[in-house]
Amino acid sequence: MYHNNESIFFIDGNWTKAGDANIDVFNQTFHYGIGAFEGIRAYHSSMGMSLFKATEHYKRLLNSVQTLHLKINYTAAELVEITHQLLKKNNLRNAYVRPLVFMGPNMELTIKGKPRLLIAAWEWGALLGKNQLNLSISSYQRPDRKSLPATAKLTGNYTNSILASYEARKKGADEALMLDGDGNIAQAPGANFFLEKDGVLYTPQEGNILPGITRATIFEYAKELNFEIREQDLLVDMIHDADSAFLTGTATEIVGVKSIEGIKMNNAWKDSMGEVLAGVYQHRIRREVSQGLTIV
Ligand code: PMP
Repeated sequence: MYHNNESIFFIDGNWTKAGDANIDVFNQTFHYGIGAFEGIRAYHSSMGMSLFKATEHYKRLLNSVQTLHLKINYTAAELVEITHQLLKKNNLRNAYVRPLVFMGPNMELTIKGKPRLLIAAWEWGALLGKNQLNLSISSYQRPDRKSLPATAKLTGNYTNSILASYEARKKGADEALMLDGDGNIAQAPGANFFLEKDGVLYTPQEGNILPGITRATIFEYAKELNFEIREQDLLVDMIHDADSAFLTGTATEIVGVKSIEGIKMNNAWKDSMGEVLAGVYQHRIRREVSQGLTIV
C-alpha cells in the first residue's frame, strides 16, 4: 500500500529501492520510540507538484531531532529540495511525504550513534473525510511538557495518540479530544483544536500541544479575514455552549466538529468561522498549485 517494487526511498543520503532498504531489527526507534518524523502534503496540478509548507515542516523536524540531543547534517532547504526529487523519482501526484529520523541498533536506554534519515512518500489523493466529526473526550491525557517535549513530533509520543483514537472509535465516536494535565482541552490525537464562541475563535496556547503548521496557517488566514483568535486555557465547560469547533492538521486539513461527548455545536458547520477558513485553505492550495507555485 505504501510502496511497491518500483518505489524509491531517500535513505542515509542515497536513493534506494524500497526492497533494498536496510533497517536493523535492533534499531532503537523500533524498540523504544526514539525518533522524529514529519508528515507533509504534496498537491498536484497541470503545472506540477507543490509541497505545502515544506520548509516549516522540515524546520520542525530539525527542532524535534534537537530535543532528542541529536543532529542530522541537512538544512531545511536541502530537505525540501530532496523531497522534490523524491516525488519526481516516484512519479507521485497527490502524495504524503514521510521523513523519519531513526536510530541504529542500540538496546540500551542511551542516546548515542548517528541518527539515520529516511524520506519516503506515497500516493494519497483522497482527504481523510469531509464529514463533521463526533468527538469523545479521552481518558488518555496528552503528555504534558514535563513528560515529553511538547513542541517535538517524536515517534514514541504516538502510542498515546493511537490509544486515544482507539478508545474513541470503540466508544462509537469519530475521534478523541484529549485533555492536558490540568484538565483543559489540549487537542485531538493527530490534530489541533479550535472552538468558536460569539464570533471569536479559541484555541489552547502552546505548552502541552504540538504547535501545528496548519494551526499556524489558520492564524495567518484569520488575520487576513479579521477573525479574532484567543490562545488560552480551554476549560472543558466551554463545549457546552460552543457555536462551532474544528480540527486542523496536514492530513486532516480543516474538518468541522458536529458534537463533543454528545453535546451538539450550536451552529451548523456551514455557518461557522471554521467553514470560511476551510474554504480559504482549499482555495489557496488549489490556486497556488494551479499557478505552479511551491506553497511555502
Ligand atoms: N498534533 C499532532 C500530535 C499531530 O501529529 C499533528 C499532525 N502533524 C498535528 C497536531 C497537526 O500538525 P500539522 O498541522 O503541523 O500537521
